Amino acid sequence: MTAGADSVDVREVGPRDGLQAEAPIAVRDRVRLIAALFDAGVRHVEACSFVSPKAVPSMAGAAEVVSALRPPADARVVALVPNLRGAELAGDAGVRELSVTISASPAYNEKNVRMSVDESVESIAAIAKLGMPVDAVVSCAFGSPYEGDIAVAAVAELGRRLLDVGAATLTLADTTGMATPRRVEEVLAATGTDVGLHLHETRGTGLVNAYAAWQAGVRRFDTSVGGLGGSPFAAGAAGNLATEDLVHLLDDLGVVTGIDLDRLLAASGLVASLVGHAVPSRVAGAGPRTRLAPA
Ligand code: ZN
Repeated sequence: MTAGADSVDVREVGPRDGLQAEAPIAVRDRVRLIAALFDAGVRHVEACSFVSPKAVPSMAGAAEVVSALRPPADARVVALVPNLRGAELAGDAGVRELSVTISASPAYNEKNVRMSVDESVESIAAIAKLGMPVDAVVSCAFGSPYEGDIAVAAVAELGRRLLDVGAATLTLADTTGMATPRRVEEVLAATGTDVGLHLHETRGTGLVNAYAAWQAGVRRFDTSVGGLGGSPFAAGAAGNLATEDLVHLLDDLGVVTGIDLDRLLAASGLVASLVGHAVPSRVAGAGPRTRLAPA
């Protein structure tokens, strides 16, 4: 779906970002979850990552997940890849869109992917040459646990470089939940608003950051069903912005997402049962604001 002025493109990252932080669950259950998300109207999903199963056991079987999916004709299925080899595996499995992370924080980049930022830019250039659209996800764009605030000019410059070497789109990620509305506005003033935002609730600011970004003109957001997630490489990174919390807010604003909140809550219930614990989403816990208690 092309996001217009009164619509928002919600990229569901729960099957990847959400589940990677959990104990492994079966491929058929991951496929069931994605099917439930499609059923709720989700049309843009990061389904898996082609990483080493030794490094991230929960993401084993990525090719099996992709081949078992029956996406609606208008759905976009994205795989996260760490490098050229992962991108080739994803292409072989039938994936047609990729996301690749690079960090605005040099120290985080070294720890997360064991490459310098320049090496990561080169890697993304090589991946883009395969011909699949690549979304470059700039982690720690709103702050780094190692270096604090990254200069907004440096974030914007990295974004420009990534587009120059062939990335189709940019997403700015708040990997460790350091963004605030003030910081979001500062970063967007430097980067422009033709970016996706990947927000975390680590400090309880994910939804208010999304609102600030939406008001500034951002129309693409990454969210995770149930609010599951976090990086296995970043301590304290837990808690993506929950899809149902964002959809609940956008519904109230009259913004079109194509997602049915009740069916999304059913998918949220499914993911809670699959991971075996309650999910952090507030709307999953309390229900939509218009759902009244029985008399
Ligand atoms: Zn995340």
